[in-house]
Amino acid sequence: MIKVTSCSSLALRVFKFRFLICNVQLSQSFLPFHTYSNLDSLVSTFIAAITSCSSVFSSRAIHARIIKSLNYREGFIGDQLVSCYFKLGCEEEAEKLFDEMPDKDLASWNSLISGYSRNGHVFRCLIAFNRMKFEQVMQPNDFTLLSIISACTDMRVLDEGKYIHGIALKLGMLCEPKVVNALINLYGKCGFVNEACGLFEAISGQSLVSWNSIIAVYMQNGFAKEGMRLFNLMRRAEIKPDQATMLALLQGYEDLGIGKLADMVHGFMLRCGLIANVTISTALLSLYSKLGRLSASREVFREMINLDKVAWTAMLAAYAVHGRGREAIEFFELMVKKDVVPDHVTFTHLLSACGHSGLVNEGKDYFKDMSEVYGIEPRLDHYSCMVDLLGRSGLLSDAYDLIKGMPMEPNSGVWGALLGACRVYGNIELGKEAADRLFALDPSDSRNYIMLSNIYSAAGLWKEAARVRALMKERGLTRIPGCSFIEHGNVIHRFVVGDQSHLESEKIYKKLEELIGKIRVAGFASKTEYVLHDVEEEVKEHMINKHSEKLAIAFGLLVTEVSMPLIITKNLRICGDCHSMAKFVSLIEKRTIIIRDSKRFHHFANGLCSCGDYW
Ligand code: ZN
Ligand code: ZN
Repeated sequence: MIKVTSCSSLALRVFKFRFLICNVQLSQSFLPFHTYSNLDSLVSTFIAAITSCSSVFSSRAIHARIIKSLNYREGFIGDQLVSCYFKLGCEEEAEKLFDEMPDKDLASWNSLISGYSRNGHVFRCLIAFNRMKFEQVMQPNDFTLLSIISACTDMRVLDEGKYIHGIALKLGMLCEPKVVNALINLYGKCGFVNEACGLFEAISGQSLVSWNSIIAVYMQNGFAKEGMRLFNLMRRAEIKPDQATMLALLQGYEDLGIGKLADMVHGFMLRCGLIANVTISTALLSLYSKLGRLSASREVFREMINLDKVAWTAMLAAYAVHGRGREAIEFFELMVKKDVVPDHVTFTHLLSACGHSGLVNEGKDYFKDMSEVYGIEPRLDHYSCMVDLLGRSGLLSDAYDLIKGMPMEPNSGVWGALLGACRVYGNIELGKEAADRLFALDPSDSRNYIMLSNIYSAAGLWKEAARVRALMKERGLTRIPGCSFIEHGNVIHRFVVGDQSHLESEKIYKKLEELIGKIRVAGFASKTEYVLHDVEEEVKEHMINKHSEKLAIAFGLLVTEVSMPLIITKNLRICGDCHSMAKFVSLIEKRTIIIRDSKRFHHFANGLCSCGDYW
């Protein structure tokens, strides 16, 4: 905030100075004020001041000066001022000035339309567009269409985008590569891959930008293999990929878990030197971390030539999410030693790393250092991390006191962290308060109802649990079904609880039964408190044994080689019973099992989990 003000006042001072010089020059040379060349230089001074303007106050001051000295509302200055007001989010002023402009040309309309576009107002864009066509019978140019398409893309508004597509076709503007690429992006973002592909194929002599657009469309829509195929075609067409190509390829994998393709991209980046680009290398590092491959993330970090704060923070985040608290702390200290100044994002990951590893004292110290040593005031994210850290360690009343002392209103992240801890430690009273706050903040999040109902069920308070579930039903909310994913043979295999849809279903259940038998002998006992219904113990065991993680583990053991770790993704938090089961399986079957749940990674090996049972 302080930075913006000082910048803009500086801009204003520069402007005043230049304005003064300009006037002095005018008076010294005794030229009449309206002399063209001097007016021109005055105009450029104004434009320079407007374009560098970054606060409402200075834009108004400039506007006032312009009106006073030139009475100049039209032409280029007017357009620039409209853009400037939009940039600062002052739409009323922008609209007012626009309406006052006596001679509006295409550039003026474009300033208005692109201003709406940048502020995400698709419909105002279209209204202005239609006004322009009907009031002034003016034809749009590519800039006009690009502004509207970009707004439609950002807001995922397809019908209006199609309307603009039609107009582009009518005006013969589909030979304009920028317009076509923007339309490809629009269709891709809205999930219409075939339409995007049709547009791409119709382009004669596809450019790098078009290839990047179409690859991104496939990747974003979950067609990673097709995206990769296009990438190879592009190289065969002797088009040299760039940073945008790599980012397009990397973004798609996040939800897919296709590790082999990530390796291909990595290899390619090394060969063509793109690894030196810090933005894409950081994207690759984060991707490997999301795929459960912390060592590959580390490798990318070591290969990186230009390390910036973002890269350091991404690596720290990888340690945090993989539950490597000690390594995260060492890494943070190294970062500071190398004179990389941490910011609030760095601290969020550092505190979460402490939380994921139960490092309470270290977390408390860093929370203090953050403001006292580094001058960073804690934000909501940091409070969530601290509540989580204290709560996981059973320090529920400390967590509650911290919330009470917060200088801002706690959000759902903060209360959610407390509720999660109450679930683990069976604190009904605080749990109820946290849940009530969450119901008020976000009544439509079914996870909070389930969490509270779980707290009651675990304590045997069936009536209360039923009441929460009834409330959830009354509000039309349903439980998000738990799903586990595992990649095998370039295919993602998906399991839900009690799933029988898999082709190998029979074998999977047989393997699972065998496994549970084996680990029981080794001391595994079902934790039936994780079943939420008021039913007999035996029935509960039967239900819990069909959880999606267990099915994915059994399938993984059936199909993968003995030396391979099992990498499983779960959409919700892993339950205590599956967590315990995975620990036993890692011991009995001598397998590393990596489960990424909605919160973090669990690395199971030799009967232990990397989370140290803090999750
Ligand atoms: Zn489970
Ligand atoms: Zn774990």
